[in-house]
Amino acid sequence: MINKDRLKNICADIGVDLDAQALERFELFASLLVEKNKVLNLTAITDPEGIAVKHFADSLTALRMIELNAGDRVIDVGTGGGFPGIPLLIARPEIELTMLDSTGKKLAFVSQSVEELGLSANVVHARAEEAGRGELRESFDFAVSRAVAAMNVLCEYCLPLVRVGGVFIAMKGPDADAELSGSAAALKKLGGAYGDTRAFTLPDGSERRLVVCKKISQTPTAYPRNGGKIAKKPL
Ligand code: SAM
Repeated sequence: MINKDRLKNICADIGVDLDAQALERFELFASLLVEKNKVLNLTAITDPEGIAVKHFADSLTALRMIELNAGDRVIDVGTGGGFPGIPLLIARPEIELTMLDSTGKKLAFVSQSVEELGLSANVVHARAEEAGRGELRESFDFAVSRAVAAMNVLCEYCLPLVRVGGVFIAMKGPDADAELSGSAAALKKLGGAYGDTRAFTLPDGSERRLVVCKKISQTPTAYPRNGGKIAKKPL
């Protein structure tokens, strides 16, 4: 069982204030995650402190880079067990959140959790590169993604989904700088431009990097390519 006072302090340490209702929802989501993880592999982290720091606080660091307002359209690409999407929705329930993943079983958990938390979000079962060629193309103000792919591949998954003028945030570990330097061509081809990188140290000492990219022009229709081509010949 997560300790709400402890979670409040951990999130305050990374600069995010949580109200009583958010803390209640985080407590419930932690118990849903631990329960479901007994039958479906969602996370290796199941202790209350680990969940609070490495899942909840880590996900919320995105709020230090972008202001999320009511009605903002946000997509979490490769959400898995709901990260960073569900923590962002708990902290900012008024956003229009879409959580996308290629694994249906994880999304069933995500859907059920959103409902039990009394929140609402869209859940999309698709590969990101397929969604980026369909009706969701260039329809989001923000794309966020954590622990899904190397930066150059992630750009091809995420940037086609972002409208011109929108922002893509890659939530990375300490190797982000090296990944970023190998992504300059991908960013340019996809209509993106590098914005900023911010380093965060989580309360357990883990190093994180948040990389912000802006969508400055439309993604050419040749992108995203299909998954096989992206894997074989990353930009
Ligand atoms: N973002 C979550 C987190 O930080 O806990 C999950 C990370 S998990 C390591 C990677 C997730 O990305 C998996 O759930 C996988 O199904 C999803 N994924 C990988 N490639 C994808 C793609 N091309 N389209 C959609 N989902 C993808």
